[in-house]
Amino acid sequence: MAEARVKRRFVAGAKCPECKAMDSIVLFKVNGVETVECIDCDYSEQQPDEKVAKKATGDVIGVFKP
Ligand SMILES: [Zn+2]
Repeated sequence: MAEARVKRRFVAGAKCPECKAMDSIVLFKVNGVETVECIDCDYSEQQPDEKVAKKATGDVIGVFKP
């Protein structure tokens, strides 16, 4: 159980810039940093704010609010 638990949100309509897969992008926070990751390939990108979500141009499904 060494793996950190991270809440992942799928980004609807987002396309992976690497493998071009649709709806394979997940968005989550690592140490407060927004991170996007493709579940189909090894693509991942980190940005310090919400720009990532907006760049992905999709509606976020299942937003977790505290
Ligand atoms: Zn990909």
